[in-house]
Order: sequence, then structure tokens, then C-alpha cells
Amino acid sequence: MATFFQSVCGKIGLQATFTQYLPPNLTEIIGLTYFCLDDSRQGFGRGGNNKNNNNNAKNGSPTQTPAPPTPQGSASLSNSPTLGSNPSIDGSSVNDADAPKYFFQEKYAPLNVRGNFLTLCACPKNVELGEWLAHQIVEQYRLLHGMLQVIQEVNGVTGLPLCNETTCPTMSAGRLTYTWLVDGRAAKISAPKFINRVEKWIVSKIHDPVMFPTDKMNGLPDTFALNEVTAPASNPNTNASSEDWIGKSSGFHQTFYKDCQGIMKQMFRCYAHLYHAHWLNPFWHINKHDILNMCFVHFVTVAKYYKLVSDKEMEPMQPLIDIFIKQQRIPPEALGGGHWAQQSSA
Ligand SMILES: [Zn+2]
Repeated sequence: MATFFQSVCGKIGLQATFTQYLPPNLTEIIGLTYFCLDDSRQGFGRGGNNKNNNNNAKNGSPTQTPAPPTPQGSASLSNSPTLGSNPSIDGSSVNDADAPKYFFQEKYAPLNVRGNFLTLCACPKNVELGEWLAHQIVEQYRLLHGMLQVIQEVNGVTGLPLCNETTCPTMSAGRLTYTWLVDGRAAKISAPKFINRVEKWIVSKIHDPVMFPTDKMNGLPDTFALNEVTAPASNPNTNASSEDWIGKSSGFHQTFYKDCQGIMKQMFRCYAHLYHAHWLNPFWHINKHDILNMCFVHFVTVAKYYKLVSDKEMEPMQPLIDIFIKQQRIPPEALGGGHWAQQSSA
């Protein structure tokens, strides 16, 4: 396998990869005000000295500061999602399908970045697409994992994480409930169990040397430009059935692209649950809904640009996606032909 993916996500351990390379890249590449997930997690769960905290952010445990911060700008308390609908925090279910979907309203959908994520999403010319997709998958999992940690952190008072068997007895996103195959049958399992299984499954995939090879391929140059040596697959939907497939020249398995789709689909479901069940508590309450939005916009940009998650799968979040498309937070280049249209027009 060529050097790019190996260099950024070699088996020195994902944890190291997750915390080392991205934030500098982000600021260097497009000058975004981004964040380090480790820092922001401190801000989420433990108070601390997160220098990236918004002025309005409340430090400390989310459940100890349930009063909503006033959003930046002009929103007044009368606009607060907590008024008129104030679900209990640790006891009863948070999966009220009829609860107002504040996160589908533009005024509650801010981002703390300018521009969009096209630069971080588009495959550089000298990097083979398979390697780039592997890099994108690892990166998207890193971001999602940081958001999931927010609902998984055990509350010191209740001894339970925010997302627990009581609050989230099923893996739901509004009226939709995702099931897990148990003994060949679709079973409704709790959201924390579902998310835990998804995370373990994704990590096992990323560490699987067949799916994410990190050994160099024999006989190949130590540099990149492999996609210029072999004809790149032009259509993601047909490439796996032909002699050529995405990632072939870098040593990825024939099913690699489909596996990426499977991983991204499960990641999307986690985002859907984060919004539908936990947007208000904790993300709104601790004024970090903008970071959730940022991770989600980045995720959807990659998903659409490389056709990794179907439009139908994205339906539970469609109103918010439509807002981000309208704002061009999800860039126009990610829609329609995405990567392949960009390649053919280049
Ligand atoms: Zn939950």
C-alpha cells in the first residue's frame, strides 16, 4: 500500500492518529477555526480550561447546568428550545418522537466555521482514491467518536451516561427505530448497546488488515501517483464488478468501497440519534450544538461527495441537510456527481 494512508493512519494506534494530525491540517489548509476533540471533550464533560469555549458555554457537568445558554446573537430566552418543551434529563425517555425538532430550524443551526469542507473532502490529485477514502473514514470516525463520548460519559450524580437503557431503550431517530441483527433476526436493542456495537464494529474494520491494509505493496513506488499509472474507476457503482475497483492499486480489497458505504451508513445513524435524542440535552444545554453541526456538515459533505450514504438513508435528517445545502455549507460540488463529476470536468 502506498504511503499516504499508512502515514496518517498506520497501526501505531488509532488514538494517536485521532489526536495528532488533523487540527493542524485544518487550520493550515483552510484557516478554519476548528477544534481539538480532546479539548472540546473537556469542555463538554468536565469543565476545565477549554480555550475554544464560547463565552456562553457553561463549564461543568451538563446535568448540573441545565439552564440553556443564550445563543450567540439576538436569540432571546423566548426562543429557547427548553421553553415549552423541557424533557426530564436523566429519568424518562428522551425519545419523544413528537417533541419539537428545534435542530431542523435554521435559527438553531449555527456553525462555528466559515465556508465549507470541500477542501478537506476533495481527493488531492496525487493521492489514490482508495487511500483517500480510508483516510476520510478514519477521520469521520474520529469526529463522530468525539460527539458520542459526550453522551457516553458517566454522570457523577446518577452514575449513568446521558444515553442509557432508560432514556434510550431503542436506537431511534424520531419515529424511526434502527434494528440490529441478532441471530439473523432484526432486533430492537437499546441505543447505548447499538452505538457500542457500531463503534466496536467500525474499529475492527479499520484495524482489519484486509480492509485497511497498511503494509506497502511490493513492486510499487514508494510515492503516490498510482492513480495516474492505472486507470481510475470512473463509476463507483460498477467498479467492483469489473477488473478495476477503487483502491485496487493501493492494495485495498475489492469490497472496499462497499465496506466504506456500510461504515458511513452506521455512522449516519449515530448522528441521527445524537440529534433526535440528544440535541437538547446535552448539546444545546452546554452550547455545543454548533460543534455537533460542524461535525455533521463535514460528515454529510464527505458522504455526498463520494456517494457513501444514500439519500433515502439520510431522510431522518433531511430538513437540516436541506438548510445546510441552501446555505452552501454543504458545497454544491458535493451534490450531483460529486467526486466523479469533478474528475471528469477537470
Ligand atoms: Zn441516546
